[in-house]
Amino acid sequence: MVCIYCGCETRVLNSRPKARNPSVWRRRGCEVCVAQFTTLERPDYTAALLVESCAEHKLQPFMRDKLFLSIYKSLGHRPDSLNSSTALTETVIGRLLHNKLASKGYLLTEDLAKVSYETLRRFDPLAATTYKAYHQKALKMF
Ligand SMILES: [Zn+2]
Repeated sequence: MVCIYCGCETRVLNSRPKARNPSVWRRRGCEVCVAQFTTLERPDYTAALLVESCAEHKLQPFMRDKLFLSIYKSLGHRPDSLNSSTALTETVIGRLLHNKLASKGYLLTEDLAKVSYETLRRFDPLAATTYKAYHQKALKMF
């Protein structure tokens, strides 16, 4: 990877796999401008997973940011909404990946909404209620 400041090659100074999710934290250093910065390597779910809506029969790439925003919107009443949303997004993704369809590269919108709702309900019932209001269509059978 090139330096984010000068564009010259960097080398890895330190590397640690994350314990709870499939990602690797790396500290990099530039030998030209001596800058240091951190990178986080994680799976590209957009390329690995397609989301299918049972109701609409449409396939779309899975977008982690879209999931994050839906969780973040539901946690708007909390002072820790940003950090909580980041952690809960990883929890939801981890639970979704244990689904048999996910190993074949597919997720159902309805499963995504159900797992998000259940995860939020355990964390903060008010957030789950807010989430449900925004995702009534996907949660209709729930
Ligand atoms: Zn540099």
